[in-house]
Amino acid sequence: MQGQVVKKVVVAGGGTAGWMAAAALSRHLGSLLEITLIESDDIGTVGVGESTIPTARTFNALLGIDEREFMRTTQSTFKLGISFENWGQVGDRYIHSFGQVGKSTWMGGFHHFWLQAKAEGFAGDLGDYCFELQAAEAGKFATSENANINYAYHLDATLYGRFLRKMSEGKGVRRVEGKIRSVRQNAQTGFIEALVMESGEEVEGDLFIDCTGFRGLLIEQTLKAGYEDWSHWLPTNSALPLQTRSVGPAMPYTRAMAHGAGWQWRIPLQHRVGNGFVYCSDYMSDDEAQAQLLANVEGEVLTEPRVIRYKTGKRRKTWDKNCVALGLASGFVEPLESTSIHMIMIGILRLMQLFPFSGCSEALMDRYNEQADAELEKIRDFIILHYKVTERSDTPFWDRVRTMEVPEPLAHRIALFRDSGQVYQSPGELFQVDSWLQVMLGQRLEPKGYHHMGRLMPPAQLRQSLVDLKGNIDRAVNSLPTHQAFLEQYCPADAT
Ligand SMILES: Cc1cc2nc3c(=O)[nH]c(=O)nc-3n(C[C@H](O)[C@H](O)[C@H](O)COP(=O)(O)OP(=O)(O)OC[C@H]3O[C@@H](n4cnc5c(N)ncnc54)[C@H](O)[C@@H]3O)c2cc1C
Repeated sequence: MQGQVVKKVVVAGGGTAGWMAAAALSRHLGSLLEITLIESDDIGTVGVGESTIPTARTFNALLGIDEREFMRTTQSTFKLGISFENWGQVGDRYIHSFGQVGKSTWMGGFHHFWLQAKAEGFAGDLGDYCFELQAAEAGKFATSENANINYAYHLDATLYGRFLRKMSEGKGVRRVEGKIRSVRQNAQTGFIEALVMESGEEVEGDLFIDCTGFRGLLIEQTLKAGYEDWSHWLPTNSALPLQTRSVGPAMPYTRAMAHGAGWQWRIPLQHRVGNGFVYCSDYMSDDEAQAQLLANVEGEVLTEPRVIRYKTGKRRKTWDKNCVALGLASGFVEPLESTSIHMIMIGILRLMQLFPFSGCSEALMDRYNEQADAELEKIRDFIILHYKVTERSDTPFWDRVRTMEVPEPLAHRIALFRDSGQVYQSPGELFQVDSWLQVMLGQRLEPKGYHHMGRLMPPAQLRQSLVDLKGNIDRAVNSLPTHQAFLEQYCPADAT
């Protein structure tokens, strides 16, 4: 048996990705590793990334994080889904919630019953049969140890980083502050041996985790892993984040409001609201974006808008030689479905599962990279769906995305749903059937056919089952406190 070849782990970068990696590695493999994290106060972090999906709870649980303490410290609120506004047509609105819609059977999804009922003229909205969606609409929320409710968090990215830093340092992670000036590589293998700081200090390691943000200091600038550009499918390339003071109770959902050349987000936290404009610079100037954003925020503006540029895509290899890239260094798909923090988490878990104790072999890297690619490509397709399936033709941007060619697997999914009402979740895919369904129907993709299992029961029975389902959901929602009231009682954040 080989000895332990990889013991010293160096995390380059102290944004959300860097501190998530340091916190997880130190908690689970800390006794076998020496972990150092380098971050630069001068460079700072990207400072956005505040809306999550329910897997954030799994990550917190793995880290043994107490939910109330986490929420108080990071000014978090609860999130039950995303309200999509102006996507199918200007004036449209639907919620993509984290909940299950109705009750499915082995033969097919609940929506086939619903489509039957709709054809017979007695179905409500699909969302009437989803508890999380109705709670979101009503601005209500509660959870407890035994509650079966699917939710995620809105959090303050800077405070989250600080929270994870404290945990990591408590578990022995050494933090080095300063700028990395250069990277020392082995002359024969190209493996990274040390990061050379501006101070002259050299931080040596066996495995390097590149969390340096868009610049990809190790994975791209040093190892030249290459970048696969997806901007022909996802052409937005600019974002303008802006924070405002809260003006009303926090709603338990993110808002994603489409505009003429992209969309705008609104994320309610306990102490403030995160806003931002995502747009394609081919169709909108920075000045126009800023003017539209400022005209469409509520409450006092707390920060200066600043443009962030990006190119949608991914590194050709996220693990190359002895370097694994996480977060923005590994690639970027716009935050429409809040998937980036999830991808960081999945990357960290996979790294821990495949940890190269005996050295970084090609086979190990290939395994890691294949899985990372497969997951991200499916997320990418789900995001493209939001642009492709639209009736909007009011601007050149929407004409472009509505008429573009999409990846073949996505084209097939759209055709399948349109023809037969069939939806599926591939193995290892993040988004479940109900997510695809809510977005496709929400964006006006009406299926021409559906499974006729609903006809196996008499219409009166089908009608009664739907009435009962809705009644149960309405009663459960009515019994909940408002989200704001629950926050104030469960996890009130410190005043800022
Ligand atoms: C506009 C926008 C909105 C987003 N919204 C969401 C969202 O709602 N939900 C979601 O899940 N994700 C979102 N994301 C993604 C999310 O912000 C990132 O995945 C997350 O913040 C991780 O960033 P990071 O740690 O990779 O990079 P960064 O935050 O950029 O951190 C980089 C780190 O590297 C350090 N560094 C860089 N160069 C050097 C050097 N030479 N020497 C020393 N240190 C260095 C920096 O100091 C910093 O600590 C969004 C991203 C963008 C751009």
